[in-house]
Amino acid sequence: MQPSVDPNPLAPAFLRAVSNLGFQVFDQQNGALQESEKGGASIVEVRIRNGRRLNSPEAFLYPVLHQSNVTLLTGAQVSKILFDGKTASGVEFEWLGSTHVAKVASEVILASGAIQTPKLLLLSGLGDRDHLEKFDIGVVNHLPGVGQNLQDHPIVGAGLWRSSGPVVPHNNAAEASLFAKSDETLDRPDLHIFNVEAPYLSERTFAYASENVWSISPGLVRPFSRGSIQLKSRNANDAPVINANMLIDERDLIALRKGMELTRSIGNDSAMKDFNMEEVLPGRRGSRELDDLIRDGVMSMHHATCTAKMGTDDMSVVDSSLRVHGVGNLRITDGSVMPTVTTGNTQAPIMMIAEKLGDIMGF
Ligand SMILES: Cc1cc2nc3c(=O)[nH]c(=O)nc-3n(C[C@H](O)[C@H](O)[C@H](O)COP(=O)(O)OP(=O)(O)OC[C@H]3O[C@@H](n4cnc5c(N)ncnc54)[C@H](O)[C@@H]3O)c2cc1C
Repeated sequence: MQPSVDPNPLAPAFLRAVSNLGFQVFDQQNGALQESEKGGASIVEVRIRNGRRLNSPEAFLYPVLHQSNVTLLTGAQVSKILFDGKTASGVEFEWLGSTHVAKVASEVILASGAIQTPKLLLLSGLGDRDHLEKFDIGVVNHLPGVGQNLQDHPIVGAGLWRSSGPVVPHNNAAEASLFAKSDETLDRPDLHIFNVEAPYLSERTFAYASENVWSISPGLVRPFSRGSIQLKSRNANDAPVINANMLIDERDLIALRKGMELTRSIGNDSAMKDFNMEEVLPGRRGSRELDDLIRDGVMSMHHATCTAKMGTDDMSVVDSSLRVHGVGNLRITDGSVMPTVTTGNTQAPIMMIAEKLGDIMGF
């Protein structure tokens, strides 16, 4: 990871603005900033090696593909985990138009993400008994927490300014960000506010997109709202029902109100004057109108997690070695195992969970 090289001029202007507002600016996004009780701002970090963005397969998978104990089947879709009694024995999957079975000599490791992992567990008989019986799925183990506790970072696409000239996105288009508190009494930041060199808007606020506009978007990174993933049917090709439940907890709306106020202060700060010919959104508006705009502008930061959480209570699904409770030979390594969504973005922590599993299993 390294800070974006050659950022758009908007990004350093954003950092000057937050500094004017009393926030500390850090050289790097990770380390001291993440430990800081008050938060702060930085140029964001990207995964680049020798001038090229690195994705996860390039970083982790391709280097081991030559090994005789690695087989990669692209386009294969697992439809169910198979069990001998309460011990996972393999998976059933669709590949090239037909159904196949892969038996395991050791363990099944599920890594299908916070939306598909609970779906697969449910299809395989691991979940709330009543929910499974509704779809005539035999219960392997009653685990009421499967699919519950869905968490995400909501982000509001409703902070928009017009520049006098074109704003050309560089690198990843969101090159500076600020961690801040919505309430001074909090022990650490709950807002993550992004400077975006493009109109970052929801379906409902997209009508405001026009020439030469750019955004500041507040995200909530310690949300109280919880959603769920449930089956729509017992057909593995059907998408699950996703109840995002964003902002269902009033405290999240209250925090994002503060986020929008801070967003306005940054965008209208003198440090941003070269890029601020006009404030398009939110503008000055009453609290009720602001709440409506937040609800219209809210989107997922694509950080769905926590639907098969680690723990020891009745609603937890895996133990501290990532083993699924109550069954043998089955572990999970993906965002679903987080008990609470991380305050920062999710990709690096999820890679760390997989690295940890590698350690646990002695790889
Ligand atoms: C548009 C977008 C932008 C993002 N930007 C960032 C960012 O800037 N920084 C950051 O930290 N995070 C970012 N994230 C979030 C991050 O990518 C995710 O949190 C992370 O990839 C989740 O990892 P995971 O292993 O839990 O699941 P995934 O990455 O979703 O991996 C699950 C894998 O399982 C496969 N799969 C699912 N079901 C089956 C099945 N039945 N059979 C076979 N295979 C299956 C899927 O195809 C997928 O490859 C972004 C996400 C999105 C969507």
